[in-house]
Amino acid sequence: MGKEKESKMSYKDCAECGGQCCKGFGIPLMSSRFGIPLALYKNALETQPARYFLYHEGITLSQDLKLFFIDKSIKIKHMGSYLYVDSKCFMLNDQGQCSIYETRPDMCRNFTKETAHLYVVPKGCKYEDSAKHK
Ligand code: SF4
Ligand code: SF4
Repeated sequence: MGKEKESKMSYKDCAECGGQCCKGFGIPLMSSRFGIPLALYKNALETQPARYFLYHEGITLSQDLKLFFIDKSIKIKHMGSYLYVDSKCFMLNDQGQCSIYETRPDMCRNFTKETAHLYVVPKGCKYEDSAKHK
């Protein structure tokens, strides 16, 4: 699919989207690939961000679980006042569904229309208008 077509995509329903929000996450604009503090993601919505990031391709964690690193093979793009990391979760199955839905990380569990303003969401997400990068 071409880039232009992809950017015009808009989903009203998660079922038609195929889990785009499980294929990436946001990081602060000035971040380096090498050493992003996990503490940035530790809040009322997520108490153990290490688990979320361990599930994502191209991500490694420091031994003390204080930082994560993004492999140079992973694309990072500008999204408003944030950056978006194209890193798919290993737990997303071929049907675009979470294979560990009942035990998914808090960051995934707590993502709703009401909390979307705390997240950076992919283009076309039904919560895009409420999200952090707007
Ligand atoms: S929350 Fe947004 S990105 Fe995630 S599955 Fe639903 S429409 Fe897609
Ligand atoms: S754990 Fe499940 S809900 Fe969370 S990003 Fe991965 S596939 Fe998506």
